[in-house]
Amino acid sequence: MPAFPDKLHRQIFFGDDALRLLEKLLSEKYSSVQKFILTDENTSVHCLPLLQKNVPSLAGAAMLSMKSGEKNKNLNSCIEIWKQLNAGGAMRSSLVLNLGGGVLCDTGGFSSSVYLRGIDFIHIPTTLLSMADASIGGKTGIDLEGLKNRVGAFAFPQAVVTYPEFLDTLPQREINAGFAEIIKQALLCGDKLWNIVKQVEPNTKNISDDIINNTLLFKAGIVADDPYEKGRRAIFNFGHTIGHAIETCSLIHDEDSLRHGEAVAAGMICALHLCSEFENFPKQLTEEICLLIKSWFPWLKINFPDDEIVHHIKFDKKKAGKPVRFVLLKAIGEPVITEKITEENIRQAISFGRGYLSA
Ligand code: NAD
Repeated sequence: MPAFPDKLHRQIFFGDDALRLLEKLLSEKYSSVQKFILTDENTSVHCLPLLQKNVPSLAGAAMLSMKSGEKNKNLNSCIEIWKQLNAGGAMRSSLVLNLGGGVLCDTGGFSSSVYLRGIDFIHIPTTLLSMADASIGGKTGIDLEGLKNRVGAFAFPQAVVTYPEFLDTLPQREINAGFAEIIKQALLCGDKLWNIVKQVEPNTKNISDDIINNTLLFKAGIVADDPYEKGRRAIFNFGHTIGHAIETCSLIHDEDSLRHGEAVAAGMICALHLCSEFENFPKQLTEEICLLIKSWFPWLKINFPDDEIVHHIKFDKKKAGKPVRFVLLKAIGEPVITEKITEENIRQAISFGRGYLSA
């Protein structure tokens, strides 16, 4: 598939050709530049050999490392990365390649965006979620005191290199978590993508390149028009207001915390209830979508008290002023951003989601 250039991402390389295009970019633009590859303990084993084999320009690259998992998307990881860059003699002209999932790309992107006031970086997403969503859009950042993405910056990578073969080693649980964001994107995009996405067999490893590509291009298109989320870009928060709060509860209480995509799946079920109640979204469609989400996450429950979830929503970064901003759907492909949802409505939505997932 050809490179997709847009004014923000400079280029998105997708498909079987992606690593060859990365090699071309590196040899043309970064041949004499010091390069660093950031990995975690999983991508260093499963993804680095494939990258090095296909991209000879990385032969002399220095290695950076961080620990995997949402609990490590924090300032300590950034400090470790900055120290490793110091030790490696990084300069303003240096380039960081972030080889990993959303946690690593968010942390590595943020670390690069402020190191020496900003050095170039490239995202090489290796999870379904980071390919379809997290690597696109220039949002970088870390969590603080359990609050999601509390510190961060908009910083656009020089390129996003999406090579689906990396998914071959990704555990099924992470594939499913990534698929939740694909469901979200399809609901926002419209019937064409939704009708393809809804037919994917739950719990499969085979997510077609077309689905990944169409999902990321949809996001890239919206981001290109609203890079700093002043308006329409906020639609991507569908399912995230309650989802992020559930994720925060899980990070605090669970040893093996919910994956981001899993929390978003629960958040979408809650939000769909509000869509039917307040936006005339057809109840039958709500039922169909909730059923589909449940078929991907049959074990998922909302195990935290309403008060705690609501407490975290109040601190969610999407609460711009006093009312909480909610993304709802009028129809598939017709999201609306509203501030009319009250705390009582949120409690009802959580109760709906809790009941639905427990049934
Ligand atoms: P993740 O980054 O935690 O990765 C999941 C796990 O898979 C990790 O243990 C990782 O080491 C491992 N892994 C990665 N690639 C692998 C591979 N190819 N083979 C084997 N193991 C592999 O999870 P994620 O779902 O990719 O990302 C979730 C994060 O993304 C959250 O922090 C979320 O907030 C963020 N996010 C960011 C944006 C954005 O716009 N920046 C958008 C959506 C989500």
